[in-house]
Amino acid sequence: MAIERTFSIIKPDATRRNITGKVLTLIEDAGLRVIAQKRLHLTKEQAEGFYAVHKERPFFGELVSFMTSGPVVVQVLEGENAIAKYREVMGATNPANAAPGTIRKELAESIEANTVHGSDSPETAPQEIAYFFKDEEIVG
Ligand code: UDP
Repeated sequence: MAIERTFSIIKPDATRRNITGKVLTLIEDAGLRVIAQKRLHLTKEQAEGFYAVHKERPFFGELVSFMTSGPVVVQVLEGENAIAKYREVMGATNPANAAPGTIRKELAESIEANTVHGSDSPETAPQEIAYFFKDEEIVG
């Protein structure tokens, strides 16, 4: 299996509840390594740009409001099969459908306030990483 990099956001519901460390523990326990990390308060423009693929979806406006409602922690994660592995560790979008032990099952509040974002494919991961990080900010 290849060593990959994926992009992660710990969302505002987690910073509000002061549980970013609990999220990080689940990430590290899965064998993923944080090789870049920063805390940001997304602007409306940043959130709209990041979620542009969803702009026609009915939840887009609320999603942008939620993602700008408080600080987030953006990360680059590295490990074997990191993109698919992080999606597994995150669990299903709706925490009600997420498997036990996943971040969303154990920690998320709702389908919107679902604690984490993770890249969904080898195509989106490098694009999402580049949206938030310069090469020199990533220390593998
Ligand atoms: N979302 C929402 N309502 C929905 C579906 C999604 O608010 O009915 C939000 C949720 O925060 C989700 C994000 O939009 O994480 C992106 O949706 P996507 O379908 O890409 O889910 P993900 O890849 O995050 O599991």
